[in-house]
Amino acid sequence: MDEAAADRSLFRDESPSSSIRYARQIRFAPVGEAGQTSLASSRAAVAGMGALGCVIASHLVRSGVGEVVLIDRDIVEWSNLQRQMLYSERDAALGTPKAAAAAARLREANSSVRVFPAIADLTPGSAESLLAGADIIVDGTDNFSARYLINDYAVKHGIPWVYGGAVASGGMTMTVIPGETPCYRCLYPAPPAGGIADTCETAGVLSPLVDIVGSLQAMEAIKWLTGNRQAMSGSLLQLDVWRNSWMQVSAGNARREDCPCCGQGRFAFLEEPQQESSAVMCGRSTVQVTPSRPLGLDLSRLASRLESSGRAELGPYSLRYRSESGLTVIIFPDGRALVQGTQDPIKAKGLYTDILGD
Ligand SMILES: [Zn+2]
Repeated sequence: MDEAAADRSLFRDESPSSSIRYARQIRFAPVGEAGQTSLASSRAAVAGMGALGCVIASHLVRSGVGEVVLIDRDIVEWSNLQRQMLYSERDAALGTPKAAAAAARLREANSSVRVFPAIADLTPGSAESLLAGADIIVDGTDNFSARYLINDYAVKHGIPWVYGGAVASGGMTMTVIPGETPCYRCLYPAPPAGGIADTCETAGVLSPLVDIVGSLQAMEAIKWLTGNRQAMSGSLLQLDVWRNSWMQVSAGNARREDCPCCGQGRFAFLEEPQQESSAVMCGRSTVQVTPSRPLGLDLSRLASRLESSGRAELGPYSLRYRSESGLTVIIFPDGRALVQGTQDPIKAKGLYTDILGD
């Protein structure tokens, strides 16, 4: 057999029916044909495509959720490969945006799912469009401001979200169903002061932990999307894979009338006016500069303007510019930039303005 014929033979079942692809899941009675059909007509948003996001999105796409939105602002780096299962050395070498790399990999696993990569920061200005139409939001972020924002959005629109966190050997997950369960702010009224909470940068993180937490989150989402509300956990789960502990904390009584979000309907994190901002990215010498509104940059024009410097390089998703001072700036079409090689927001902002003007 020649090579082309071998390929044809390999792909002779190019589009198997969903009853074949999802046979083992459909056979599980609480899912069944009806649950599978319901999954196929659902849309899920995965916020953050780091380690948790990779696990969550893999399960959702392989299970046959009809539409999956992958939101991430960052690029793949070498230190991600230890635990972020969808990325390869090639992605790290090229600095591919995580949302794009993950979408490419997941489409290979299941081409019948519509995967929408969003190379973007989840902010008050972008949340309404990035999360629009989602039947559930699953949290793969690594920061508190994103979680309070997701909580506001979910409660405002009456859709559930599944919180998850993993640091060192300990993880936590909780599902928020607006109108039924406490929301995130009922339990944690305000974000912790900067520098108090452990992060993956200060305390590290173990790869098997992330798999467990992300899988639990995906399971909650699949239960919801297949109409199995009664099977959902309804509590806060804390686990530690090093100390071998697993603790369910009932959160049933934690709903608060005076919660600003679900009790009083004030969505401060979602309605915060957005200003141009810069933020040091967790775990690295990188500062993100975000314009007050998306810019719609013509990157090829910007590249030709910077060409004479000989330090600009146009890629499929971004423009990479090496400054004289040794910093690297990655600029996205929405005007957002990652300034690598510094943790100084003022320095990063200065270089950003040098390139794009004020
Ligand atoms: Zn609440």
